[in-house]
Order: sequence, then structure tokens, then C-alpha cells
Amino acid sequence: MNGQTGTGLIDGFGRVHRDLRISLTDKCSLRCTYCMPESGVPWLAKQSLLSPAEIERVVRVAAAEGIETVRLTGGEPLISPNLIEIVRRITAIEGKSGPIEVSMTTNGIRLPEFLPGLEEAGLTRLNISIDTLDPDRFRELTRRDRLIDVLAGIEAARRSALRPLKLNAVVMRGVNDDEVVDLVEFAIKHDAQMRFIEHMPLDIGHTWDRGEMVPREEILASLRQSFNLEPVPGRGGAPAELFSIDGGPATVGVIASVSAPFCANCDRLRLTADGQLRNCLFARDELDLLSALRNGASDQAVRDIFLAGVSGKRAGHGIDDPGFIQPDRGMNAIGG
Ligand code: SAM
Ligand code: SF4
Repeated sequence: MNGQTGTGLIDGFGRVHRDLRISLTDKCSLRCTYCMPESGVPWLAKQSLLSPAEIERVVRVAAAEGIETVRLTGGEPLISPNLIEIVRRITAIEGKSGPIEVSMTTNGIRLPEFLPGLEEAGLTRLNISIDTLDPDRFRELTRRDRLIDVLAGIEAARRSALRPLKLNAVVMRGVNDDEVVDLVEFAIKHDAQMRFIEHMPLDIGHTWDRGEMVPREEILASLRQSFNLEPVPGRGGAPAELFSIDGGPATVGVIASVSAPFCANCDRLRLTADGQLRNCLFARDELDLLSALRNGASDQAVRDIFLAGVSGKRAGHGIDDPGFIQPDRGMNAIGG
């Protein structure tokens, strides 16, 4: 046992962890090139996926240690058969400062069908990924002809009460870097905030090339050709650096994980669909919560795994270190 229960998830650099990203599945309805290969993905075995009750137990222990927000992700969380039950179970958990807030990152496909149930279960917010508004590009980028379904998902989110609504795009050179202004205008029309993400080395195929990445500075320069951008203060631990657009109230975000890392303020931990605790997107080690849970671990033992994960967290992701090695798992299995 490492100290008293409830003393908090504070790492060796003083970072307090309040956010837990939970991947519900490694499977997906799309095959985005920066995330998954077209075929040959080694899927997680069904029996290794955490059950809703196991997820609830983990969150209950983590909440007692200071986790306040949970983001459901994947793979594609909307293809998890237990999604609504999981949202219901987690939102019923009391954290240190009230009920756990649950949000979800999704590609939006089939969202219209699930949104009423998700709202009723207590989901508070949505991030929807959309990299392009062009159907042909969408098909090339995701290897599926489903832009129309993603647009329907965004429209359903616009009509819902879930706010703020955020839209995410990974910017890629020669693929969609000429669409940043159109995407911002699209987001504003849908009462949403557009956020541009730098391409990170997290694809299963290991095809990332730093020279090809469109960095923050270039994204901002493209946006400034059409908009007046002013930095919004008070970022805290948020990955996105926000800018007001033409005096506001609309804002746009840039998530510059590679060119301007925000590791010093990171408050996030990650749980994979097969119950492995990760202290960073780029971690090479995982802690096996699944085995602990299935071998009858006490709450104290589960808590100690969280404390061990936090205490082993490195200062930064190390993408620029000469010895950087990309994680073995792809983004779909880590949970973005
Ligand atoms: N399927 C859902 C979706 O696409 O929103 C949730 C999972 S996805 C892995 C979460 C986020 O990670 C998405 O916004 C996606 O664009 C982003 N992502 C995936 N691979 C990435 C990469 N190599 N670099 C940067 N962002 C990436
Ligand atoms: Fe699926 Fe999301 Fe990965 Fe695209 S980024 S393949 S939508 S998990």
C-alpha cells in the first residue's frame, strides 16, 4: 500500500491527474490512414475486453483518488454494444467534486440513432472527428464511403443539448491542409469549435514522417489568411491552444502535440479496452488492471496500480529524443 486512500494521483513532477480516457473497443467503422491499416489488424480478443461492471469498478476507485472526468473513445465507441450502459454506470459515480463527467470522442457514424439514449444516460459532451468535407477525399482518407453518415452525426449533435460541441481534424500535407478555413466555417455553422491536431506517430503501419507533418505554425498561418485570431488565455491542462475568431465568440483550437508539446500540464491517464493502464499516449509500458480485476484484486490493490502508473510517468512523450520508439499499439488500440 502506498499511503492513504484518496491522497490523489500526483506524479513525480507535481502533475495532478483528473482525466481518464477509456477505450471501449479497438474496432472501428473507418480505417483512417493515420490510425489503422486497411486490413490485417490484430484485434483484441473479445474475452479480454473489460465488461461494464469492470469499467465501473475501475472508475469508482480512480474517482476516489481524484479522477473527475472520463472520456470514452476507441477505436469507435459507438460500435461498443455496452456503450449506453457504461455511460449510465460511470455518470452515477460520485467523484471528489461531484458526479463523474463523461464525454466521448467519436467518428459520428450512427450517432443519430444513439444520441437520445446517450443523453438520457448522462453523457455531457461530444468530440466528433471530421478531416475533410470532400466525399472523395473522405473515401481515400478513411477507406470507407461514409462522409454522409459522419455529417448526419454532426447534424444530430448540433440539434442536441450537448455543448460545447468540438470537431477534430488531423491536418495532413497534400491531403486536407487546404481545407482548414472551410472546416472552421463548417464548425461555426454547426455551433461547434473546430480543433486541428498535428499528425502524431501513432499509426499501426508506422508510416509517420515528421517532415510531412503540418505544424501548428503552418496551420495558424493558413487560418490567419482568412481570420483574425487572438489567443484565448486560461488553457490549464487542455491539449488545445484556443484562439478567438474575428473577435469571438467563435474559437478554434490547435493541438500541437509534436511541435509544441503540452506534457508539463498533462492531467490524463488512459485505460485500454483490454484493461491496461497507460500513463501517456506514447507510453511503452502498461500496467495490467485486467488480470488484477479478474484475479480478485481488492480496491486497494487496484488503487495501487493507479498510483504505480502515475509515479512512473515520464516528464514528456520524448518524440524528439534520439531514442524515441513509437508504441507497439496503434491509436485505435490505445484510445485517442
Ligand atoms: N474513432 C473515434 C474518432 O475517430 O474520433 C475515436 C478514436 S480516434 C483514435 C480519436 C482521435 O484520435 C481522433 O480525433 C483521431 O483523428 C485522432 N488520431 C488518430 N490517429 C492519430 C494520429 N496518428 N495523429 C493524430 N491524431 C490521431
Ligand atoms: Fe476509426 Fe477513429 Fe481510428 Fe479513424 S481515427 S480509424 S475513426 S478509431
